[in-house]
Amino acid sequence: MIRFQDVTKRFGELTVLDDLCFSVYPRKHVTLIGPSGSGKTTILRLLMTLVKPDEGTITVDGEHLTHEERNGKLVPAGEKHIREVRKKIGMVFQQFNLFPNMRVLRNVTEAPVHVLGMSKDEAEARARDLIELVGLTDHIDKYPTQLSGGQQQRVAIARALAMRPKVLLLDEVTSALDPEMVAGVLDVLRDIAHTTEITMLCVTHEMSFARDISDCVMMFDKGRIVEAAPPEQLFGDPRHQRTRDFLRSVQ
Ligand code: ADP
Repeated sequence: MIRFQDVTKRFGELTVLDDLCFSVYPRKHVTLIGPSGSGKTTILRLLMTLVKPDEGTITVDGEHLTHEERNGKLVPAGEKHIREVRKKIGMVFQQFNLFPNMRVLRNVTEAPVHVLGMSKDEAEARARDLIELVGLTDHIDKYPTQLSGGQQQRVAIARALAMRPKVLLLDEVTSALDPEMVAGVLDVLRDIAHTTEITMLCVTHEMSFARDISDCVMMFDKGRIVEAAPPEQLFGDPRHQRTRDFLRSVQ
């Protein structure tokens, strides 16, 4: 579903990702852990096409993010191609970025209606299901400012799923929340991981969440994968000293 092949990303002199290769298979949940500044968020931003790789190729569901095929040749991807591939990807950020002037229901229906061209009725029916899934049916007519941070983040999750993405990217989705709000958001994500077919790529500092939902955990340092393994192994018996040091520092 996701493939990075020899991807290098630099910001000026700084090499943030160094010849990175990895794949995420359909319906798998992969978590990226590692110290701050190791390049985890840059991976998500590359997938969102917010930044471009300097070298290498990235594909999502078999489609190149950086290139498209024209007349049998790979050429740099045009806007239209990028928009189409982007529809396969949903993202939830640390800051929820809801539309402040819209009620919960409309926050969830807006993009399906205006970007996917879904009918209003169909979008609303689906939004109601998703709002129920994230436990906010009682708040469906509220504005974002009338909700707690944790509730707003759950709306953001419903909004991302409303676009029926094949891939869900989660970037430290609990970092901006008060501690008592974290569990509710993680429970919703656990539920989604265990009951849907979506492929997930998460950056998180919540090790117990990573342990719970991941098929594979990738430990990053300085733009490289130090080790990648199923959570039982990576947390229970890490192979590398760097991983052991990192896990000790976050526990
Ligand atoms: P992580 O998510 O692991 O904390 P990031 O991917 O956010 O790491 O950042 C990796 C490195 O890239 C950091 O040193 C950061 O300062 C740098 N960086 C990220 N985005 C930019 C940018 N737009 N311009 C310059 N440097 C950046």
